[in-house]
Amino acid sequence: MFLRPLQENREHVASYYAATLGEHTTYPTLAERIDTDVCVIGGGFSGISTALHLAERGYRVVVLEGNRIGWGATGRNGGQLIGGFSMDADDLRKDLGKEGVHAVWRMGQEGVDIIKQRVAAYGIDCDLRFGYCDVALKPRDLESFTMDLVRQQELGYPHTMRLLSRDELRSLVKSDLYLGGLLNEGYGQLHPLKLCLGEARAAASLGVQIFEQTRAVKLEQGEHPVVHTEHGVVHAKYVAVCGDAYLGELVPQLSSRNLPAASFVIATAPLGERAKDVMTRELAVCDTRWALDYYRLSVDGRLVFGGACNYTGLAPANVTETMRQKMLKVFPQLHDVAIDYTWGGQIGISMNRIPQLGRLKGNVFYAQGYSGHGVAPTHLMGKLLAEAVSGHAERFDLFARYKHLPFPGGKWMRQPLYALGMLYYRTLDLL
Ligand SMILES: Cc1cc2nc3c(=O)[nH]c(=O)nc-3n(C[C@H](O)[C@H](O)[C@H](O)COP(=O)(O)OP(=O)(O)OC[C@H]3O[C@@H](n4cnc5c(N)ncnc54)[C@H](O)[C@@H]3O)c2cc1C
Repeated sequence: MFLRPLQENREHVASYYAATLGEHTTYPTLAERIDTDVCVIGGGFSGISTALHLAERGYRVVVLEGNRIGWGATGRNGGQLIGGFSMDADDLRKDLGKEGVHAVWRMGQEGVDIIKQRVAAYGIDCDLRFGYCDVALKPRDLESFTMDLVRQQELGYPHTMRLLSRDELRSLVKSDLYLGGLLNEGYGQLHPLKLCLGEARAAASLGVQIFEQTRAVKLEQGEHPVVHTEHGVVHAKYVAVCGDAYLGELVPQLSSRNLPAASFVIATAPLGERAKDVMTRELAVCDTRWALDYYRLSVDGRLVFGGACNYTGLAPANVTETMRQKMLKVFPQLHDVAIDYTWGGQIGISMNRIPQLGRLKGNVFYAQGYSGHGVAPTHLMGKLLAEAVSGHAERFDLFARYKHLPFPGGKWMRQPLYALGMLYYRTLDLL
């Protein structure tokens, strides 16, 4: 399979999300000097969530987005709304102890709650629906579902969760691939670009100054940080760096710890009555592999199907056909259905899959590295960044105390070395 770089320009990628956005606000380019309390670099979920939390607390905030709001992973993702984090909270037990794990687990659910509250408070129309299912390809997946269910119940998870037998799952998700599932009524799905733009609009209504097509090209860290853009400059009391996998070399210390991996999504033509041949209920679905399949039905009845995580950060030569073949493995009954949209984006991967939250020099904070599972966690991290700026850093510090090592190999070799290392896990997927 040939690989090639993802093609990008400064407008939203031509996705199902961009095509169904409807009327939306665009923001000017910064071409002056501004003084503010907090300058946020990056207008994805991390940056906009941070800005909105800060504005709600009365701070003056400026957001600098190099392209368009939601242009990065935020406006391209699978739209799966899942609580928790990419790593298992239990993996943190030796560092945090039982209480610490419990605190992290509670925070993992909070991301979903923040989204729910914002959608209601600001009237954001983003196709939010609840109902999520993990699906098992191997008997060991079923064992881990049972353990998940018991653990969630022990921790007091407030929503219905239920193991599904093969037949029960088959009545909901019309695929012969799976051995069973774990249904969770507290997770769900949404239109991520509509959500991010809705949150940006809410932030702007509270006085946040948003600038698009305004890339931060230099950051002076310290007690009085300064952010230089292509045509302007921002002097701030605090800076939050939220560029994730698209940050480039603005802060080499951050990009050496957060590697971009490419993932791809297709959306079929509307299925009409045939949607019932795919799913009888509108669920968001994920399997359990490292390079997993994730899919859901959009409100207009398309199958939105994602996967093919590529740790080289590159794209297959024919993305649509690669993804179509993946979809047909799950739903062969869709062999004659047209694919209307294909797109891809970069996921920021952390070596230990723990989201990276921390402080650089002086008053410069950052959040990145959600490792493929960021829709809900970005909303929590924005809140923790806002708490840290306002002097309440206890929860921020739970994450910030994790030391994230740079990927080995230096600027040029770290990506190929990592891709090689990930081959090991992809082999495990096959066993
Ligand atoms: C294809 C795909 C599918 C995914 N599916 C899911 C899913 O279903 N569920 C889930 O939970 N997670 C999913 N994820 C992960 C999730 O989308 C991300 O974790 C999350 O959106 C990260 O948000 P962010 O704001 O940190 O980064 P981004 O959304 O990438 O935003 C970063 C922004 O910063 C801007 N920027 C960077 N550098 C600069 C600079 N110097 N100056 C100004 N602006 C700058 C970029 O232009 C970009 O808009 C998926 C990701 C991808 C790519």
